[in-house]
Amino acid sequence: MSTNDTKCPVNQTKMTLERFYSDESKNGMCSKCHPCKLGIYDAIRILDAIQTGKGEKHHIPLLRRIARNVKDGSMCKKGKDHGDILYEFLVFHAEDLCRHAKGICDDYECKSLVTYTVNAEQCTMCGKCQEACPSSAVEGQKMELYRTGFTPFRIRQKRCTHCGECLAVCPDSAVLISGDAAGKVPGKERRTIPEPKPAYAHSDECVEASV
Ligand code: SF4
Ligand code: SF4
Ligand code: SF4
Repeated sequence: MSTNDTKCPVNQTKMTLERFYSDESKNGMCSKCHPCKLGIYDAIRILDAIQTGKGEKHHIPLLRRIARNVKDGSMCKKGKDHGDILYEFLVFHAEDLCRHAKGICDDYECKSLVTYTVNAEQCTMCGKCQEACPSSAVEGQKMELYRTGFTPFRIRQKRCTHCGECLAVCPDSAVLISGDAAGKVPGKERRTIPEPKPAYAHSDECVEASV
């Protein structure tokens, strides 16, 4: 996946920093100065933790401090530019970052923050999701003629790796996707990922914590 393929600003920023960090060409980091090398590395690790549902309250002010250190302590334009990228992300996407820290990815891209469930009312028990699931995370019995008492289809969350295969194959839009790890955001019927973000209330608390 390239940065052009992702809509999630957290993912986009992490990928940009990762590319700079690991690029061995003249466009990448040369590792000569510590604020750039360590700061970018730490920022990647923190963004990764936030994307995998391990975001903590102190992460946001820490990212702010790292952005300043990279910008001020870098000895070349490349380093300063990447400090700016991180800083601008914190300014312009404060709300997105805060939502991620709470376990919600509105673009349905951060796999660990997405929950898949089966809508029993819409499920026709065709079994396609079960056949497609690479992790044996789908339970249920396929509908067969002349048989009664079927176990309904459901997704075992502990086994689910959030790959999205069940969503792609379900012919009846019965697999729902939620943009949060806890499944508290109402699930949506979807065939593809992603779609435009839902509007959400602006939170001053998040913005103040971010920048
Ligand atoms: S700021 Fe420039 S010189 Fe320093 S490590 Fe980064 S890329 Fe190299
Ligand atoms: S998202 Fe992937 S792992 Fe999870 S139930 Fe669907 S197919 Fe299985
Ligand atoms: S593919 Fe859809 S309709 Fe078929 S069993 Fe799975 S959830 Fe139900």
